Amino acid sequence: MELDFYAQRFVQMQACQANAAHHAIAKLSDRFDVICITQNIDTLLEKAGVKEVWHLHGRIDYQKCEWHWEIPPLDAEWQCDYKAKITQPTQLGDLCPKCGQQLRPDVVWFGESVDMRVEQLNAIAPEVDIFIGVGTSAQVYPAAGLLTFFEYVPEKYFIDPEPASDALKGYTVIAGTSAAKLPELVENICNRS
Ligand SMILES: [Zn+2]
Repeated sequence: MELDFYAQRFVQMQACQANAAHHAIAKLSDRFDVICITQNIDTLLEKAGVKEVWHLHGRIDYQKCEWHWEIPPLDAEWQCDYKAKITQPTQLGDLCPKCGQQLRPDVVWFGESVDMRVEQLNAIAPEVDIFIGVGTSAQVYPAAGLLTFFEYVPEKYFIDPEPASDALKGYTVIAGTSAAKLPELVENICNRS
């Protein structure tokens, strides 16, 4: 049962703490305009203090209903715009105050499409000075799709314990985990400017 699964994740997340990588991104976002694009549904980046986070797969601390307009079929006539922050996991029987449908976490479930925010990506890409890929492989989606948007960014890094060099032409590739390598990279970027 999906609601039970996400209810457990919600409870687990409350107990989780941000790690060195989350804090490094927060430090960078204190100094520069940083947009953090993530597949994570937890809110550890926010907990660490990262100011702007795009959750491509949604957020576990929000709920929407089964008739929400983001859920396929996208051209459905029955659409709802209810979405709200939660402090307790969504339960079976919790109904949308707007349309009366069952509520569910605001996360992208298997088989549902991911909104890549293509328009926004196209708008910001030419303004980006530095791109850092971290916490994912360059070969899996949606990360792999993101790389094409930032192809012409002058300075690009990718941190990966097992970097896929084919996909990373033009990148400074750093082999290692995000928690180990990202703080060092952030330190270097902050110190030179
Ligand atoms: Zn609704």
